[in-house]
Amino acid sequence: MLLGLICVVLLAVPAGAEPVGAEPAAAEAVDIVWITFESPAELASLAQVLDVWEVQDTLPAGAEPVGSQPPGAGRLKALVSDADRVWLAGRGFEVETVAPAAVTPSTIPSTSCYRTIDELYAQLPVWALDYPTLTELRSLGTSYEGRPIYALRLTNEATGPAKAAEATKVAEAAKPIFFLMANIHGRELITPEMAMVFIEHLLTGYGVDADVTWLLDHHLIEVMVSANPDGHVRNEAGQPWAYWRKNANPTYGYCGGLSYGIDLNRNSGFLWGGASTDPCYPLYQGPSPVSEVETQVVETFLHSLFPDERPDGLTTRAPESKPGVFITLHSYGDLVLWPWGHTYTPSPNSAGLSQLGRKMASYNGYAAKQASGLYPTTGTTDDFAYGELGVASYTFEIGSSNDGFYPPCYRLDALTQPNLDALLYAAKVARVPYQLPAGPDAADVVALSVVSGAGQAVSVTALIDDRGNGGQDIAAAEAYIDVPPWDGGQSYPLDAVDGLFDAAHEVVSGTLLLDTISPGRHLVFVRGQDAEGAWGPVSADFVTVAYGLDLAPVLHVGAARPGEVVTYALALTNTGTLSQTFTLTHTHALWPVSLVPTITHQTPGSGTVVTASVTIPSGLAGVTRDVFTVTARADEAPWLLREARIETHGLWVSVFLPSVMRVH
Ligand SMILES: [Zn+2]
Repeated sequence: MLLGLICVVLLAVPAGAEPVGAEPAAAEAVDIVWITFESPAELASLAQVLDVWEVQDTLPAGAEPVGSQPPGAGRLKALVSDADRVWLAGRGFEVETVAPAAVTPSTIPSTSCYRTIDELYAQLPVWALDYPTLTELRSLGTSYEGRPIYALRLTNEATGPAKAAEATKVAEAAKPIFFLMANIHGRELITPEMAMVFIEHLLTGYGVDADVTWLLDHHLIEVMVSANPDGHVRNEAGQPWAYWRKNANPTYGYCGGLSYGIDLNRNSGFLWGGASTDPCYPLYQGPSPVSEVETQVVETFLHSLFPDERPDGLTTRAPESKPGVFITLHSYGDLVLWPWGHTYTPSPNSAGLSQLGRKMASYNGYAAKQASGLYPTTGTTDDFAYGELGVASYTFEIGSSNDGFYPPCYRLDALTQPNLDALLYAAKVARVPYQLPAGPDAADVVALSVVSGAGQAVSVTALIDDRGNGGQDIAAAEAYIDVPPWDGGQSYPLDAVDGLFDAAHEVVSGTLLLDTISPGRHLVFVRGQDAEGAWGPVSADFVTVAYGLDLAPVLHVGAARPGEVVTYALALTNTGTLSQTFTLTHTHALWPVSLVPTITHQTPGSGTVVTASVTIPSGLAGVTRDVFTVTARADEAPWLLREARIETHGLWVSVFLPSVMRVH
């Protein structure tokens, strides 16, 4: 009830905001068409003004697209108005109508799997309440129509300096950041759903999935579910608002009520200018760089997360060691794109950007290329994040031509699950994204609690695989327990199971001798190195050490007169996770000793008091002390033992110094 009330307040749109739901003055005819182009220059001129949905190369039969080169010739699908048709005809373009767009698409009212902005936003505070130590929900600002733009921060606040980092960028950088942004284009309805799937996977996986657990312990993840809530709301209404791409700001031209607004992915401040200058066009860049409140929120947030570590010239690279990854989710095209978008020239960090881009594409199965290889763009968020700040930045175009902007519900899992794997990989390499993807993957990590010789140990096996990371031979592998390599943990070398590191993928194993390991659950990290010296990201598994025992205190000293009995209380505790039977013994003693009990069964966390009684012989003069050791041993884990030393003094001198005895 309370939550519902909060959401209503948060989502209230100020009076006077318009024109959602208003009847358009004159609905302009728009159609989805194919347009043929003959050169990269023609493609660029079309992409500058038209609402381009997809681009197809025209290639000779059997030929493969070459690298990141833009298509030389081909066709593109676009949404065009009558005015566009006139413009196209005037330039001699061939236009083939695909379908009249006036057909009502299956948008939110009839498609239950896509939540409205209100429904998406209602879930965020629920998560924040359910996972208070892992989340922080913040409104970073409001859209043109007054809707909040949220970021949900995901990290274990109890580990590392994330919480204290609000004030200082330097401290915040101590946890590498992955920022996932969705829905900067209103009609791309799969993208906020993808962001929600990612959040849910992290929150429900913490403490259950070893990799998710270390990700939230050691990394900081920010998710913006919608950068353009006003645009999403228009698509929720169906016709005539279907396919609304831009924000909802009509200030620079009302355009008959159906095509106003600014394309927020042409409004960013890095080398802005080059997209449409016509407010009525779908790619309108706005009157000036960062003119829109939504763009301001996104750029301010990017600045707050990532220190600027790249001079703004086009040829200076960001440090190869720079942490942080930014991904903006779009649809559609089955593409992974990276900067630059504004030029065909590769960026100075092109090698690192393409390495991670291709790696992520290996998870979602998409084509991977420099963004301008699709068609040139300016004022995009990823060109800003990389160009201004040096962050490893990407655009995902989710879904195929058949999926379009409103994929049918049965496609939801097929579209989100492969991207979930790609996003998790991005989060894993956020510590050094320009370098870690060069190193091999660590997969199938299995850690088991075992006994080795007379000690407690953990056996580890994993697959170290460089086939998707350059294909070099594996050179080494190592394991860490609880403390990962970047925090200075101890490295335990792992060996190739076949005896030799001589292939691009190797099954590795090793036994970590850990006599001092505490019972309970631990994280075991594994990573591999290739022959060129590149270490890959870690993968992890949980291991539970089942047996544990504590005996305290470990030293007892007592005294009494001959003929008296001295008793000592030893606290025996089962600190393991399974029930155990403990046997108590003692070393040879000169004086009679009794232990009660000598065998005791204890459930996890429980314990008992063991009494050790020493009788000082009355007739034995001349011996002033006796020392022995009590040993508690777990029957189920005989290597596990704890000892207590007991030292008893006989007060023989009391016969001669009775005044001392009065102390008793
Ligand atoms: Zn988009």
